[in-house]
Amino acid sequence: MRILVVDDDPFIRKLLVRQLKTLGYQQVLACERAQAAVEHLERQPDGTDLILCDLQMPGMDGIEFIRHLVRLGYPGALVLVSGEDERILQSAERLARGHRLRVAGALYKPVSSEQLQRLLQALPGGDAPRTGEARSYGAEELANGIRAGQLVNHYQPKVDFASGQVSGVETLVRWQHPEDGLVYPDRFVTLAEEHGLIDALMLDVLRNALADARQWRARGIELQVAVNVSMDNLVGLDFPDLVEQEALAAGAPLTSLVLEVTESHLMKNRQAALDILTRLRLKRIGLSIDDFGTGHSSLVQLRDIPFNELKIDRSFVHGAWRDKSLDGILGASLEMARRLGMRTVAEGIEDRTDWDHLRGAGCDVAQGWFIAKAMPAEHLPAWLEGWEARRSELA
Ligand code: C2E
Ligand code: CA
Ligand code: CA
Repeated sequence: MRILVVDDDPFIRKLLVRQLKTLGYQQVLACERAQAAVEHLERQPDGTDLILCDLQMPGMDGIEFIRHLVRLGYPGALVLVSGEDERILQSAERLARGHRLRVAGALYKPVSSEQLQRLLQALPGGDAPRTGEARSYGAEELANGIRAGQLVNHYQPKVDFASGQVSGVETLVRWQHPEDGLVYPDRFVTLAEEHGLIDALMLDVLRNALADARQWRARGIELQVAVNVSMDNLVGLDFPDLVEQEALAAGAPLTSLVLEVTESHLMKNRQAALDILTRLRLKRIGLSIDDFGTGHSSLVQLRDIPFNELKIDRSFVHGAWRDKSLDGILGASLEMARRLGMRTVAEGIEDRTDWDHLRGAGCDVAQGWFIAKAMPAEHLPAWLEGWEARRSELA
């Protein structure tokens, strides 16, 4: 494991490095400044498996550093180390998780060797050397992959809380890479956005989803199909017409289609996005505000865009039953959606407790590993049969 320690305090820095080496981790690099760490990561994007980072630092602080990790798409694990009070450390941890960084935990100073060891051992693949799995891809390679039809859709069921009925599926794209196997979207969607490939990706995903829905329909399975769209897809004003044509060509009613919109960065052209989203709704295509509560998915979007579904980010869902602040936010979001006449979906229902809690809170639709992980299209009919049996238990 290649570890990077970022802390301005020379004593703590040396202590951490010594502790890590004593625990058998030899590849440890220490930076006094966060800026230097960023530069290191820019030079070697795949050269680090774990970062231990202080929050309070002169120049660039830990929060700013996290921002850079998000920008760089840092795939490794992160441990926040701080002498600050618990709420600040928790907020920082949450912030990082909300950004989908792999947060392995938080440590209070002074850090004991035992704490450090426990945390490192809990890391998935703790001691095992990384395989080629973590390598990053080039735009050219992705473009070729799309052209060669290597993108495949998996589908994750969405279930009605009250009836237990499966109401639809969310399409989650994967890249069936000829050498690396199944590659997850976190490792190529941003790349597609940054290199003008996101429209080609979206079109491919949409076509495949419509074709799969057609197969299901032929077997008597009617499902609403949700497709993720990036804000970068909402640039060309003919986007709604394009989606409509594709749906009609596949014989899918427009009401059976939902577009989940995530805003990972600020909209470049707000007017165009508003125009497009409003026309999609006029065509009765469903619009869902994804990851609500994180990033830029906020009240401003709710005010301006006619979303009819609100997906509460999984960071507010899983474990909300034992966290008062999460639960407060969750309850308020559900109430707000209800007042706006929107359907609510909770993502990240990971266990029975989450299910019971969200159901009790009045959420409409459940999605998460407790129900099912995303699966290939051809597995869905068998899964649906199995679900019927489980469904009665949950009623
Ligand atoms: P998302 O839209 O928030 O999708 C949900 C992600 O959470 C999926 O990861 C899903 O597998 C995972 N997930 C589902 N249930 C649970 C659960 O109970 N617990 C936990 N911890 N995770 C759960 P996945 O498939 O890796 O997708 C990651 C993100 O990639 C998606 O986040 C979405 O933003 C993006 N994405 C996926 N497909 C597309 C696409 O076709 N186009 C665009 N633009 N983005 C896509
Ligand atoms: Ca989504
Ligand atoms: Ca989401």
